[in-house]
Amino acid sequence: MRTSKYKEGTLIRLFDPWGNPLCTCPRKYTLNPYTGCSFFCIYCYATAYIGRKPSTPKKEYFNRLLKDIVRIDKNLPVNMSTSSDPYPPIEAKLGITRRTLKLLVDNKIRVLITTKGVIYTRDIDIITRGNVAITPTITTLDDSISSRIEPNAPPPKERIEALREASNNGIPAGVRIDPIMPYINDDPYEIEELVAILSNIETVDFIVTSTYKARPDNFKRVIQAFPELENKYRRLYREEGILFHGYTYLKPSIRLKLLEPVFRYARKYGLKYAHCREGFRGKEYFNAPSCDGTHLLYPPYSNK
Ligand code: SF4
Repeated sequence: MRTSKYKEGTLIRLFDPWGNPLCTCPRKYTLNPYTGCSFFCIYCYATAYIGRKPSTPKKEYFNRLLKDIVRIDKNLPVNMSTSSDPYPPIEAKLGITRRTLKLLVDNKIRVLITTKGVIYTRDIDIITRGNVAITPTITTLDDSISSRIEPNAPPPKERIEALREASNNGIPAGVRIDPIMPYINDDPYEIEELVAILSNIETVDFIVTSTYKARPDNFKRVIQAFPELENKYRRLYREEGILFHGYTYLKPSIRLKLLEPVFRYARKYGLKYAHCREGFRGKEYFNAPSCDGTHLLYPPYSNK
C-alpha cells in the first residue's frame, strides 16, 4: 500500500497497481498524459477501471503538471505511462507528451517511457539529454496477430524500427513481451525469433514478460476477437483459473510453460529477464536488476 513518505500530485501519482502484492516494481511515480487509449488492445487491464475510450487530453493538464513537478520527490522516477499510452496517434498533433517530457527532463526528473507507439522517436532530442529509458512493448512479430490483439497500435516491424533508432542514439532500453496469451502469441519458435532480433539491438538490456490475466471485460473482448478459442479460454480461465486480486490467473504450471521460452531465449541470446506480477522466485525466472527498467536510469536506483 501507499506510504505517506513520498508526496504526490494530482497527475503524478505513486505507482501502486491496485495494491497487487506480486508487483516487484521499485517505488516510482506514474503519469498518464492522456486519459483513455486509442490503441484499444483487447487485453487491456486499464479499461476495467477507466472504461474504453480514445486517448483524450486532460483538463488543466499543464497547470496541474507544473504544480506536481514542484511537489514530488525528485529521487523517484516517473513512468509514462502505466494505464494509458503516452504516444497515441493524437500525440503527433498535440505534442502533450513531448512538452511533458521536456518539463520532466528540464527539472532533472528521471523518466521511464512505456509505449506501444513509435512517435517517441520524434522526441529523441529530449530523451537523449535527460535521464530517460524506454521500455516499448512488442508482443509478437506477426502482423496478423498484432492487428487482432492491438488493433490500433503500430505494427511490430515499426516498433522494432523505432527501438532500433532509439538504440542507435544510445537510449537505454528494455522490451515488454507482455502479455503472452495462450494459443495466440505463445509459439516458442516465434518467441525465439523475437528475442534474437531484440538481442541484436545494441542498447536493449532486458526483457520483461507476463501472462495474460483475465478481467470480465477484457475476457469478453478476447473471446470476441478469437471465437475459435472460446472453449479453450473458458476451460483455462473460467474452470481452471485462479482468482487473485481481481484477476483470473492461469494455473502456475501453465503460466510457467508460457513464460519459460522467454527466459530460456533471453539467456541464450545474452539478455536479462524479469516477469511482471507472476510471483515466481529464483534467478531462472528473474535475473534483471528491476522488472520495469528503473535500473537503466542513473544514478543507481534505490528500492522501496
Ligand atoms: S497501449 Fe496499454 S493502455 Fe493502451 S489499450 Fe493497449 S494495453 Fe491499454
